[in-house]
Amino acid sequence: MPRSSRPLQIFPIVMRHVEVAGVEDVTANMRRITLTGEDLTEGVMGEGYHRPAFRSEGFDDHVKLVVPPAGGELPRVGTQEETRFAWNPEVLGNTRDYTVRSWDPAANTFSIDVVRHDHGLAASWAFAARPGDRIHFAGPKSCARINTDADFHLLAGDETALPAIARWLEEAPEGTRGHVVVEVPTAEDRQQVGTRADVRVEWLVRGDAPAGTGTRLFDAVRRVELPEGRVYAWVAGEAMTIAPIRRYLRDERALPKEDVEVTGYWRRPKTATGDGRAPRDNAESLTPVAADEGEETSADLLAQLHEMTELAPPVITRVAVTLGVNPAVAYGVTTLDGLAADTGVPAARLAPLLDGMTALGLLERDGAHFRNTPLGAVLCEDSAHDDLSLDNPANREALAFVDLADVLRAGGHAARLGERTWRERRADDAVLDAAHQDRAAEELAYVLDLLPDLPAVRDARTLAVAGDGAAHVAEKIARGRTVHLPGTDAAAWPAHDCAVLVAALEGRTDDECHDLLRKALTSGSSLVLFERTSDKAAVDDHAAEHALTSLAVTGLPLRSSTGIDHLLREAGARTVERTMLGWGFGHFGTVTVAHV
Ligand SMILES: Cc1cc2nc3c(=O)[nH]c(=O)nc-3n(C[C@H](O)[C@H](O)[C@H](O)COP(=O)(O)OP(=O)(O)OC[C@H]3O[C@@H](n4cnc5c(N)ncnc54)[C@H](O)[C@@H]3O)c2cc1C
Repeated sequence: MPRSSRPLQIFPIVMRHVEVAGVEDVTANMRRITLTGEDLTEGVMGEGYHRPAFRSEGFDDHVKLVVPPAGGELPRVGTQEETRFAWNPEVLGNTRDYTVRSWDPAANTFSIDVVRHDHGLAASWAFAARPGDRIHFAGPKSCARINTDADFHLLAGDETALPAIARWLEEAPEGTRGHVVVEVPTAEDRQQVGTRADVRVEWLVRGDAPAGTGTRLFDAVRRVELPEGRVYAWVAGEAMTIAPIRRYLRDERALPKEDVEVTGYWRRPKTATGDGRAPRDNAESLTPVAADEGEETSADLLAQLHEMTELAPPVITRVAVTLGVNPAVAYGVTTLDGLAADTGVPAARLAPLLDGMTALGLLERDGAHFRNTPLGAVLCEDSAHDDLSLDNPANREALAFVDLADVLRAGGHAARLGERTWRERRADDAVLDAAHQDRAAEELAYVLDLLPDLPAVRDARTLAVAGDGAAHVAEKIARGRTVHLPGTDAAAWPAHDCAVLVAALEGRTDDECHDLLRKALTSGSSLVLFERTSDKAAVDDHAAEHALTSLAVTGLPLRSSTGIDHLLREAGARTVERTMLGWGFGHFGTVTVAHV
């Protein structure tokens, strides 16, 4: 299932250039900047593409500001494409995320609330901004609405989360029940926010403690009495401070993953000085580092090769995530014995892993206690668990990658996976199959919203959907129409106008694909295919890893788009074209549409 149960909409990424219309201090440590300009309206962009009007309908929608360096100009920001923006890599270090605090389409303005802190590029810009100053920004690129199925909402965060929480309070409909906890630096930073919702708002004042330290938020969340019924939790703030809240809500309160959203909004640096400042002005580090002009020596090359061939980082990191070491440390379990009890691994065997994690910078040690490093804190996030935990059978299966040499020499899939084919293993193992279905649903989350508007799908009266995540896709595109779910192995398919196949060709022989495509194309007039391909394998190491892992796991090379076109034409397609959906990123950012 997709990561969040909140309904998600995806928007094309548009870069806009706007002007500061107003500057106002909301409280001593929070400055409101109101932005305006023609670029917020619908129109035509310089490159001739349609520019959709700016919109923001979710309480935590955010924009990416491209902040100019103090007293300087930014280089070219990038190139606008139809639904996405091709960034100039040199400006990426100058981008910062800010919540859309309010949006007023009638006045053609929106505002952001910026937290004051000493050494930030964006904070410095905001606190020096004057009406008439100009800035680029992109987004919001998506919008997630309030989960109206929840019986109770828990929102918690520090002052960086306050703009989103305040907007939630203002926008939550009457009858919404919940509890809100906000940590602010001083009592004067509390805000009066009107709401129709039935919520208790609890303010925590940090006082002299540095931002992003302490357990005030965590302690307050633990004190909240969660009622019976469905609870939706939204938490944001400093990444390490909120990590234990995620574990508490998921493990102790047993809230389902899709109802818990815990997002790191900023990271306190490892060597921060007492007031939360970075050791040096971050703006300096944003100056693009000049490329090394010297030639690479053979010692450099050997060092590079040595790094590339190390086995420790991928294995130690995956094992640490599987055992949940970093979330346990974030939760306050910091000794070897405590971690042994928490992970169920005897201390004598766990100690070498903790040493390895310390050597890799995933933990640091202070006497008998372990602490998370900023890198280790990232491993507390849900995405790390989803992608790396070896308790997920799809991740464990991917370890067959290490048998690549045997697979290349002998053919077939990795011997460690047994005799049966990948498709047979999935048919017999519901947990493995569900892991792959979930992965597809997650990748589809960024494009599914746009699928109903694809002409082949939009104009169909009846649809057929098969492959990974089929039921989920069917639900999204039905819009009152009949959608058949024939299953890829069905002998014949019911008549339909348009079929949608998701990840259905990977791990199937050409003959099997031919059969499947013919079934879809003879009982319908068009076919939309979401398929992972090997297209970028030579230029992108992630794509290469995926293609080789797929080969080791399925025993069959991942196809290129050209190979898929060929199969489609053999199966009776008259026309085959490819269309980008959404931002065009990821495995399913481009779909193949075939007509008979
Ligand atoms: C989706 C999203 C929405 C966000 N919405 C908001 C918002 O509405 N308002 C808002 O103010 N922030 C918001 N943030 C957080 C904001 O993007 C970060 O705080 C950002 O790092 C600030 O950029 P900067 O250039 O000022 O500091 P940076 O140059 O990024 O950081 C410089 C130093 O300051 C420290 N630092 C960064 N932020 C803080 C802070 N808040 N307090 C103390 N030290 C800090 C860093 O650890 C670093 O050492 C949001 C973040 C995300 C991901």
